[in-house]
Amino acid sequence: MVHDMMRADADVLVIGSGAAGMYAAIEAARRGADVFLIDRSLIGRGGATVMAQMTVAVALGAEVPDHWSHHLDDTLAAGRGLCSEPLSRLLCEEGPECILEMEQWGIGWARRDGHITQAIAPGHDRPRCVYVDFLNTGPAVSKTLRTVVNKTQGIAKAGDLCVVDLVRQDGEVAGAVALHLGSGAPVVISAKATVVATGGLTRLYRRNSASANMGGDGYALAMRAGAPLIDMEFVQFFPIGHLAPRLVGMDPIMWDPFRYKLGGRLLNNRGEEFADRYGTPEDGKYVLTRDVATYAILKEVEAGRGSPHGGVYLSFEHCSEAALRAAFGPVIDRLAANKIDLTRTAVEVAPIAHYHMGGVKTDAAMGTGIAGLFVAGEAVGGANGANRLSGNAITEALVFGKRAGRSAAEHAARTRLPSLEPASTRAALDLMAAGGRDTDLNTAELVQTLQATMADDVGPLRTKAKLARALATIDGLTRALGSRPAGGGKAFDYRRLDWLDLRNMLLVAQVVAAAALRRTESRGAHQREDHPGMLPEWNANQVARWEDGRTDFAVATLAAEMAAQ
Ligand SMILES: Cc1cc2nc3c(=O)[nH]c(=O)nc-3n(C[C@H](O)[C@H](O)[C@H](O)COP(=O)(O)OP(=O)(O)OC[C@H]3O[C@@H](n4cnc5c(N)ncnc54)[C@H](O)[C@@H]3O)c2cc1C
Repeated sequence: MVHDMMRADADVLVIGSGAAGMYAAIEAARRGADVFLIDRSLIGRGGATVMAQMTVAVALGAEVPDHWSHHLDDTLAAGRGLCSEPLSRLLCEEGPECILEMEQWGIGWARRDGHITQAIAPGHDRPRCVYVDFLNTGPAVSKTLRTVVNKTQGIAKAGDLCVVDLVRQDGEVAGAVALHLGSGAPVVISAKATVVATGGLTRLYRRNSASANMGGDGYALAMRAGAPLIDMEFVQFFPIGHLAPRLVGMDPIMWDPFRYKLGGRLLNNRGEEFADRYGTPEDGKYVLTRDVATYAILKEVEAGRGSPHGGVYLSFEHCSEAALRAAFGPVIDRLAANKIDLTRTAVEVAPIAHYHMGGVKTDAAMGTGIAGLFVAGEAVGGANGANRLSGNAITEALVFGKRAGRSAAEHAARTRLPSLEPASTRAALDLMAAGGRDTDLNTAELVQTLQATMADDVGPLRTKAKLARALATIDGLTRALGSRPAGGGKAFDYRRLDWLDLRNMLLVAQVVAAAALRRTESRGAHQREDHPGMLPEWNANQVARWEDGRTDFAVATLAAEMAAQ
C-alpha cells in the first residue's frame, strides 16, 4: 500500500500530551519557539495524567509549615538510596511554582478556610498533597493545561500521530517519523529539538492502571536513538487496586483517595490488620508506603490469609454514610450503582502495575546526552529511585515538562532546522510501507502472552528462575514478531499498530527483566525472593544502552555522578 507522505517541521517537537508534554509545549512556546505537540491519542486525553485521582505532592506549607527540603528528605528516603538527587531536588524545589501557576491558570485546587487544602499521604511527614476534589485531579490538570495550550501562540497540535521512531542524523536527534492512525499515512517531522513525554510502561502487565497508550514507547524510542535508560527494574505496583466485587465505570485505583480521607482498614481473611507484621502498624490510618504495602498484601495471600479473589480486604464499614458522603459526594452514588455499600461491604484489593520509577537517564536540564533530545515526565528515570511517594508523579510531570520545554527552546534557538536525508528516515518509513505479512500472526495474543509473562514472572516478587523464564519467553515472542509488520497499513489498522507497539513493548520488557535479573538484592519495588534484603554494593543504579542490536548494562552511582556535574 502506497501512501502520500506528510511532512512537518518545528523548532520544538513534543511527543505526548500528558501533563509533561503540555507543560513543555507551553514553556517552549512562551520562550519563542514554534512548537508541534503531537499524541497518538487525542491531545490531553491519552495517558495517565487525565486518569490521575487525587494527590499532587508539593511543599506549599498551606496546612502546616513546610519547605521543599522536607519534601526532598521524604522523597530520598522513599527512593531507598537510589534517587538521582539533582532530579529529586528539582521536583521538590520547583513543584510549588508549577502548582501555583496551575492555580493562576484556574485549576481550582480544593480549599478550606481560605487556603489550599493539603492531605497527608504515606511516606510524607506532613500534609503535603493538593488535589481537586471527588477524584477530579487528573482531569482538572489535563483540562487546565489543554486550555492554556489552546490559548498560547505558537503551538500547533495533532492527535492520532503515533511516533514510530526518532530520526537520528549527524549524531543528533533531528525529529521523528510517525504513523497517522486515521489514514495509515507516514508523517516525517523535522525538528531542531525533540521532547519525549510519552509516559510510562504499565501496559506491559496483565493487571494495570494504564491506558492502551502506555506500553513504554518513549523508552524504546529513546533507547533505539542511543539514549541510556536507568533503573528499569523498578516498576511500582499500586497495592490496593480494586479486585472485587465487579466495578464498572470507576478507576481501579480509586481507593487511594478513600484512604487519604477516611483511613480505612486493610484486613486479611481473619479480619486482622496485618501491616504490623511487615514493620509498620496502620491502626486504621494510611501509612504504609507502596512498596511495603504491596509486599505485605502478597505475603498475606501467600500465607493463605487472602480474600476469595486473591487479594485482601479494604474496609470502610466503620464509617458512617454521612462521613462517606461528606468526603466523596457523587462517587458514593456511582458505587451504589455498582451495588457497593461501603457501610456494609468490604471490597477486595490487590496490587496492580501503576507507575515506572525507571526511564530515560537525563541531566537536570532534561537533556539525554544526545543533542536535540530531551525527555519529560514519567518517561524520565531516577527522580524517585526504587520507590515513588504518592503525589510525586504529577509534580514530576509538571516540573520536568516545564524544564524540558525551556531547554528544548534554548537548544532550538541556537540550531538550524535539519534537512532530513532519505537515509535517516528510510528504516522507519519502510516499516510503515511494508505490505501485510502473509502469516496469521495474532498480535493481540502476543500482547496477552507478554502481559501474563510480565505479571507472573517480572511482578513484585521475583526470583532468578522466574526472570530467566521471562527473558526466554520475551525472546520467543520477539522472534515470532519478526521484522516485517503485520496488517495491511490501512486507516486505523490495529494489527499494524499492535505490531509496532509490540516492537517497543518487547524491547522494554526485555530491559526490565534483564535489569531485574542482574540486581541480586531486594530494594523498594524490586523484591528478589532469592536475594532478600538490601546490599550496600547495590547502592547503585543500572544504566542500559542499546548497542549493535543488544542491551548492554553498566552500573553507576547516579547521585554522585550528577552531583559532580
Ligand atoms: C489511574 C492513574 C492514577 C494516577 N493517580 C496519580 C495521582 O493521584 N497522583 C500522582 O502524582 N500521580 C498519579 N498517577 C501517575 C501520574 O498520573 C503519571 O505519572 C503522570 O500523569 C505522567 O504524566 P506524563 O505527561 O509523563 O505522561 P502521560 O500523562 O501518560 O502522557 C503520555 C502521552 O504520550 C502519548 N504517547 C505515548 N506513546 C506515544 C507515541 N509513540 N507517539 C505519540 N504519543 C505517544 C500518550 O497517548 C499520552 O497522551 C496516576 C496514574 C494512573 C495511571
